[in-house]
Amino acid sequence: AEPLRGKVAVVTGAAGGIGRATVLRLAQEGAKVICVDVPGAKQALEEAASACQGIPLAIDITSPEAPKLLLQCLSRIGEPGIDVFVHNAGITRDKSFANMDQNQWQQVMDVNLNAIIGMDKALLAQGALKQGARLVYLSSISGIAGNYGQTNYGYTKAALIGYVDGLAETLAEQGISACAVAPGFIETPMTRKMPFVTREVGRRLNAFKQGGIPMDVAQVIACLATEAGPAMSGNTIRVCGQQLLG
Ligand code: NAD
Repeated sequence: AEPLRGKVAVVTGAAGGIGRATVLRLAQEGAKVICVDVPGAKQALEEAASACQGIPLAIDITSPEAPKLLLQCLSRIGEPGIDVFVHNAGITRDKSFANMDQNQWQQVMDVNLNAIIGMDKALLAQGALKQGARLVYLSSISGIAGNYGQTNYGYTKAALIGYVDGLAETLAEQGISACAVAPGFIETPMTRKMPFVTREVGRRLNAFKQGGIPMDVAQVIACLATEAGPAMSGNTIRVCGQQLLG
């Protein structure tokens, strides 16, 4: 009844909206969860980790030390490897294309793409992903349909879709699955920062005329982290209330 009992899950961005729901949901499935978020979010991270009886790990995933610190955390808790990795940490730096500076491009690329690929490469090189591991990536409807002011963000989220498809093929021989979820507008700290009009448009694009909640996404992630992983490997699943695509 608890498919992840005795298994280790890592969730990045665990102090945020979707991350926190995901750590709770994976803990419900029996997983021991390593909750990763930036040092600046330490308090929210510790709350999330204690809510799921998990292990908080305050690191910035863009730091070159991040994979090493994660591996050290694993050995500290006496675990040989990772069964589930949810690459959930992500940022926006929204601006019209003309006004977007190089820094805003670079920060979004670093967190949403480069840190993820660097982490995967390091974990594979170290043999830290167990046979049968499940990898889940947070893409976005912005990576499928695009979104005004999010050329940088949509670019990274679209890239993850192709990345997952290729990765799934590469890792299948180790029994490792890789899937992505592409949420539409979800009510989280990330979208709470957006202008009122942007949020209203996000809600109205949903066919049910409301924003999604983090647990909507966490449910799908839990499904991909358990039974559905191998069957769905390489796919990107929309979680958007049949969002009308522009
Ligand atoms: P959020 O801002 O609530 O949470 C993101 C978390 O990631 C934060 O706690 C943040 O501190 C952490 N983080 C950021 N940079 C980090 C770094 N360098 N190292 C470690 N942690 C870092 O956002 P959310 O809405 O919960 O989004 C989670 C994921 O879902 C993101 O990848 C986002 O792009 C994606 N997504 C969100 C929506 C939405 O509408 N909310 C829609 C589609 C996709």
